[in-house]
Amino acid sequence: MRTIGLIGGMSWESSAEYYRIINQQVRDRLGPLRSAQMLLYSVDFGPVEQAQHAGRWDDTALILQDAARRLQAGGADCIVLCTNTMHLVAPQIEAAVSVPFLHIADAAGAAAVKADTLTVGLLGTAFTMEQDFLKTRLAAQGLNVLVPDAQERRAVHRIIYEELCVGVISEASRQVYQQAIANLAARGAQAIILGCTEIGLLIKPEHSDLPLLDTTELHAQAAVAFALGDQAV
Ligand code: GLU
Repeated sequence: MRTIGLIGGMSWESSAEYYRIINQQVRDRLGPLRSAQMLLYSVDFGPVEQAQHAGRWDDTALILQDAARRLQAGGADCIVLCTNTMHLVAPQIEAAVSVPFLHIADAAGAAAVKADTLTVGLLGTAFTMEQDFLKTRLAAQGLNVLVPDAQERRAVHRIIYEELCVGVISEASRQVYQQAIANLAARGAQAIILGCTEIGLLIKPEHSDLPLLDTTELHAQAAVAFALGDQAV
């Protein structure tokens, strides 16, 4: 089994999900007492979040390059960055190590293509919904990506940082997301990419009329596939 290297802490609420899902999948596939070989380097989200909102992306890249190098030095055979937003600096992280970097948009895009839901709604932070780093990578896989309107994007973003990243799950916020999903469906979305690794804590399949493509689950699944040698990466 190959060793998975997770860069987590952004937020740790979702990193804990990666840890759980990866281990569950390995157990399901290999047997009850089997678990994943995995390293987790968990950063302090505070300085990263401040740099994000100040637009100091080069500073975030330095922090995450350092994390990736430490994981590789510790024996990681791949790097899994447990946040969509920080894939904004994926090229810098990838350049800092020689082991494969498993990109979150590749996992999500492949699932959308497999399900034949090529028009997708994307929910995530404002960075993820408004900048191109994730959308371009999804479009390159043949997807047509829709995002909510400006007011909904603000609400979706606020709920991520003020609630989901600090462990708050609220029914009122769930309704905000459900409305955003309904509006994306009305515009033609066939599935919703939960493009922030905490959204799955709030929105489960039973909360959505559209199929959900949860990046946390799909990325964790890609990590397991790599660890168990399912794919030549
Ligand atoms: N975990 C989130 C994401 O997937 C947001 C937190 C962050 O800014 O990294 O985008």
